[in-house]
Amino acid sequence: MAETPEAKTSQRPTHTVEDYLMFMYVMERDDGEVVSARLAELLDVTPATVAMTVKRMERDQWLINRGRGDISLTAAGREAARSVLRRHMLVECLLVDLLGLPMHETHQEAHAIEHAISLTLEERLSEVLGNPHLCPHGNPFPGYEHLAAGWKRLTELDQGQRVIIRRIHTFAEQKPAVIEFFAEKEISPGVIAEVTDISDINQTVELLIHESRVTLGFQVAQYIYAETGQP
Ligand SMILES: [Zn+2]
Ligand SMILES: [Zn+2]
Repeated sequence: MAETPEAKTSQRPTHTVEDYLMFMYVMERDDGEVVSARLAELLDVTPATVAMTVKRMERDQWLINRGRGDISLTAAGREAARSVLRRHMLVECLLVDLLGLPMHETHQEAHAIEHAISLTLEERLSEVLGNPHLCPHGNPFPGYEHLAAGWKRLTELDQGQRVIIRRIHTFAEQKPAVIEFFAEKEISPGVIAEVTDISDINQTVELLIHESRVTLGFQVAQYIYAETGQP
């Protein structure tokens, strides 16, 4: 048993810890810091639960907690996070590209499957899917962040700009109502949009997509990234 790939899998963190690691990694990468309060919100658990899990994760050396919310992943934690994020995205590609599931239904399904995938299966999946570098929501696989580097959040755009929607952030994927709303309004990677209004006072962005207008609050608009230039 010790020499089989399954033996490696059994040394993985628990499902819960894998999900924490995944979100901590994305926070560290995209926001520059891990915020416990946001973890509680994203994982839909109480701050006390987050505190308890963080303590356990510190004991198991997945992270370093310097107190007052100053958390950073250890090298092992980061490696495990990249692994589960990769599996999460591969499963999403599988569900959308091969099984034809609508994009807004994939995220939760992926959470159910991602933790059970062995290294062997992960490699084979990636091969069959043509080694994808972006998930169906346009989020970069670990190691391919440069592909998304030039895309701007909708909240950073100017009125009158025509853009191509490229990415719906992993944190929005975690909120089914938000992702369903985006799908309903045809906000998905590859779609051309025009910024018809952006209001700092109202904290809203108005887009024109396929002749219909949609207004987004900054709160959700910040989850959408677009490519500027000449679509
Ligand atoms: Zn998960
Ligand atoms: Zn995704």
